[in-house]
Amino acid sequence: MSKQRTIVAPITFSGKGLHTGELVTMTVLPAEENRGIVFRRVDLKGMPEVAALAHNVCDTSRGTTIKDGKAKVSTIEHIISALWTMGVDNALIEIDAPETPIMDGSAKEYASEIMRVGTVEQGAERNYMEIQEEFLFEIPKKGVKVKITPAEEYSVDVTVDYDSQVVGVQHHRYDSSVDYAAEIAPCRTFVFLHEIEILLKLGLIKGGSVESAMVVVEKPISESTKRSICKTFGRDDIEVERGYLNHTPLRFENEIARHKLLDILGDLALLGRRIKGRVEALRPGHYANTQMAQELEKSLSKQ
Ligand SMILES: [Zn+2]
Repeated sequence: MSKQRTIVAPITFSGKGLHTGELVTMTVLPAEENRGIVFRRVDLKGMPEVAALAHNVCDTSRGTTIKDGKAKVSTIEHIISALWTMGVDNALIEIDAPETPIMDGSAKEYASEIMRVGTVEQGAERNYMEIQEEFLFEIPKKGVKVKITPAEEYSVDVTVDYDSQVVGVQHHRYDSSVDYAAEIAPCRTFVFLHEIEILLKLGLIKGGSVESAMVVVEKPISESTKRSICKTFGRDDIEVERGYLNHTPLRFENEIARHKLLDILGDLALLGRRIKGRVEALRPGHYANTQMAQELEKSLSKQ
């Protein structure tokens, strides 16, 4: 058993929201034991709060969104992933917009700020969930599978396979021996160019949402698409290198699998307890991850 922790001092982040492109300021504050991780919408009357717990998930279409009454916050997975995986059990996150800042598409800055201020042990014991039986969530048509089986320690294995020549089959693993801040947190979100091509051409994509993401290019791109990309990114020229737009070089060969790992660590943290079990995830996504977190939450409430 170990004790709960919170951060030593407040840390503030500002940047653009992924979907709205608006400037967001988010401050993570220390919180008392057993508080968990809670968001507070300081821009709304009465400053309503929403706990980062699985039953509050209301949307997983482009990130994980939680809601409780009037308090709604989107794209919570990166900050939660960093806090929880780096040992923070309790934190109050004040935010002045409906979504977190996307930063550079990763949790790098979150992790380095958490390290800078440090964490402190609190009086209460941590809450664990010991996995006793196998839990399985599957979407067979999409080849999505998230499985959790009993184990002494928490570990997460992620495999991604999008039938993409560029991405290929990638794998990465997290367990307590992994340096999250150095090896997982810097891995950025990604998008396939064909998914955003039309939006790009129509000028409907906000720069912030793609300029920091890895963009996977599977087919040769036309001159007109290239022009719209340059315009959106505010660049004079852009090339495709080994299947990725070269506006920002890859940080790891399997950065996509590592980012998926970052995401699932954040989504499963919505259980609000530390898991003792082995997670194996094939083609995970926010829907599957949060469904699994809700399954675990339900089985806890029956105990
Ligand atoms: Zn993500």
